[in-house]
Amino acid sequence: MSVGGFQSGFHARKVPRSEVKWESFLICSHGCEEVIQLISHVSGEVEFELCHMEAERMGNVLLEAARSKRK
Ligand SMILES: [Zn+2]
Repeated sequence: MSVGGFQSGFHARKVPRSEVKWESFLICSHGCEEVIQLISHVSGEVEFELCHMEAERMGNVLLEAARSKRK
């Protein structure tokens, strides 16, 4: 399932854990059943993937960074 993209060149897709591309690189100790993959518009390849929980954390970190005031 494709869930959106952004202009810097990726779209996101949610897949079950069994369809992870790089299982050995997946950092997840939560037992997440779903994995978010970022797919490059250029190569069409999965460039990055992270588990559901980490994806939410990453989203929050990015939001916080984007909304923070520059020092
Ligand atoms: Zn997880």
